[in-house]
Amino acid sequence: MKLTTLLLSLSLLAGTATVAAQDIIPLPQKVEVQKGKLSIGKPLNIVTNLTGADKDDLVGFIQDSPLPVTCTGKNSSRNYLRLTIAPDAGHGDEGYALTVTSRGAEVVAGTTAGLFYGFQSLLQLAEANDFKSIDAVSIEDAPRFQYRGLHLDDSRHFTSKEFVKKQLDALARYKMNRFHWHLTDGAGWRIEIKKYPRLTNFAAWRPYDTWKEWWRADRHYCDQDDPRAYGGYYTQEDVKEIVEYARQRHITIIPEIEMPGHSEEVCAAYPLLSCANDMYKNSDLCIGKEATFAFLEDVLTEVMALFPSHYIHIGGDEAAKSGWANCPDCQKRMKDEGLKDVDELQSYMIHRIEQFVNSHGRDIIGWDEILQGGLAPNATVMSWRGEEGGINAAKAKHDVIMTPGEFCYLDSYQADPSGEPEAIGGYLTLEKVYSYDPVPAELDPSERHYILGVQGNVWREYMPTEEHTEYMIYPRIIALSEVGWTEPQRKDWQDFRRRVNAEIPRLREMGYNAFALSTDIETPMRVDYAKREIKVALTCERLGVDIRYTLDGSEPSASSPVYKDSLTVTGTTLLAAKAFAGSEPVGKTLHTRIDCHKALGKPVTLGEPHSANYPASGAATLTDGYRGGKGYGDGRWLGFLNNNLDAMIDLGAVTDINYIEMKSMQAKGPYVWLPQYVQLQVSDDGVNFKDIAKLTHDISTEREEVIFHDFVWNGQTRGRYVRCYAPIVDIDGAWIFVDEIVVQ
Ligand SMILES: [Zn+2]
Repeated sequence: MKLTTLLLSLSLLAGTATVAAQDIIPLPQKVEVQKGKLSIGKPLNIVTNLTGADKDDLVGFIQDSPLPVTCTGKNSSRNYLRLTIAPDAGHGDEGYALTVTSRGAEVVAGTTAGLFYGFQSLLQLAEANDFKSIDAVSIEDAPRFQYRGLHLDDSRHFTSKEFVKKQLDALARYKMNRFHWHLTDGAGWRIEIKKYPRLTNFAAWRPYDTWKEWWRADRHYCDQDDPRAYGGYYTQEDVKEIVEYARQRHITIIPEIEMPGHSEEVCAAYPLLSCANDMYKNSDLCIGKEATFAFLEDVLTEVMALFPSHYIHIGGDEAAKSGWANCPDCQKRMKDEGLKDVDELQSYMIHRIEQFVNSHGRDIIGWDEILQGGLAPNATVMSWRGEEGGINAAKAKHDVIMTPGEFCYLDSYQADPSGEPEAIGGYLTLEKVYSYDPVPAELDPSERHYILGVQGNVWREYMPTEEHTEYMIYPRIIALSEVGWTEPQRKDWQDFRRRVNAEIPRLREMGYNAFALSTDIETPMRVDYAKREIKVALTCERLGVDIRYTLDGSEPSASSPVYKDSLTVTGTTLLAAKAFAGSEPVGKTLHTRIDCHKALGKPVTLGEPHSANYPASGAATLTDGYRGGKGYGDGRWLGFLNNNLDAMIDLGAVTDINYIEMKSMQAKGPYVWLPQYVQLQVSDDGVNFKDIAKLTHDISTEREEVIFHDFVWNGQTRGRYVRCYAPIVDIDGAWIFVDEIVVQ
């Protein structure tokens, strides 16, 4: 099928007659569709008031694009592409106005970045009409946030220079302007530092191809010329080339040099920088030794010479801090400086490095752990462990970039893990990324401007290849581009879903290995407690498929009914649903129970508190009728941290009971385990309970995959109160997640 035919059929299937201007990603702030179109059968003549290098950069970029253009140097009143810098026209640092009429196209902006983004919109308009014409339109546009970033971990696995450039092309397409380059970590050092050659002839290589093999083995390095050597690094010439490539696309590359943690490779190459003075003993640099600071200052001096970025990322995350407590140098440093604990020791280092970076006219960014022990005075905080670090930093008047794992970690699964290549864990759908608002409600209006923007993070422990990396990045980064660019009142998931469905084939045509959107069936519900009924919708990300279903749990076939309107459940329904492309089944079958059950909407008392981090709707979650999805962060799962689940449901009157079910989940990576067992009890008075069953399971805590388990009891009993007691596994930091307790 030709690309255009496919796009057309996708938009027809979406049921929306669209014009190209309403398809732009990220969605512009204001679009007015006009009558007519500009033919581009003949090349457009570029007319501009830009001069010098600015003109050469932009005109050169446009000439390299698929849009047919010429640059005669003469003015034109027809068939023109006019690029006008107008600093006083009120378009801000990155905004633009784009007007297309039958005579020509004009972009007006206050900066070359604004002109560049106006051109990106124009390019998407031309693409939508197969480069034959451009629909007439007036667009006024500017980004919501000044920082719109992608992070790439090149340490765990190395990628080619060409791959990095290819990702920069995509960032430019989606009007993203920061590339956070994670160049150093335990799995390999990736940037040439002339003064320290062992970083790249030793610490950049390991005798294992994949991170996983290396991590599970001895985590050693090897010489570059070792026949087993896997790895690589960017020479300073490579870096200059990539930085220049990014600059031409209005992207700033922010290098990250990790300290004091995640530094196994440095400690191995230069053991005297570690507390143990030995290889393979410490993951943290020694903060007691002056040699460590001399090393870091040398490295940062070379790094700052290569990267013009105002920000230098200094890591600061996940230091083990264990070596420092027994190191005479670190202990002496703490005594001399009056530091009361290892948090303050880390803070001492970050302060000192910040002073050094500031003295070169730059500022630091660090992961949110740099708040521990006292934040350095000018630091910008990257909030990854939820939003709390970002909120605290903003309240302390520090700039913040939001990258919370729940919304921005593109190493999580994007569809049902059982059908996906191995990922690090977690579950982050496109819709969830799209739903993110980087400005937390906890901030006062006067504090909101400290949120500079948002970034997607691509940690590559489980992405050994470039193809797999693209599969994880796209399309989720596209959703994040709109989070960063488009005002929240303009955002609409259904409309984005339509646009991203059309974008995927284009991306694939351009050679990106984008995930082709999920055919997993989701079941958004609405529970009516008064009518005692549940309305269930069936959806999936991918358009152009039919969802067929059965209500008796049997496997849907090509002759099963096609889902059209929401289903109404009043008792118990065994729903099975599956996507079909014509008569061909695609993807996995969803099997789920939907219960309009006896405990629905009944009050629940908890014997031990749930976690404030995963409160869902509080205790009422367990009888609200809403079933959890594949990730515990979807607001349907109630979380218990280090506590047992002890729930008592009051049915309101003594009731016949013949079925009790409780679903729980296990995800070893994030410390989520099934309870040891579930003890069920009933009572008439809420005081005297009788045991009815102890439900056990034989699922090992060591299982690596995500597991869902139903604890089910069938029998006959009576009672007003039902108690479920489910003790947590004996592991510190363990979680239990439960979505519903069904009583029939
Ligand atoms: Zn030390």
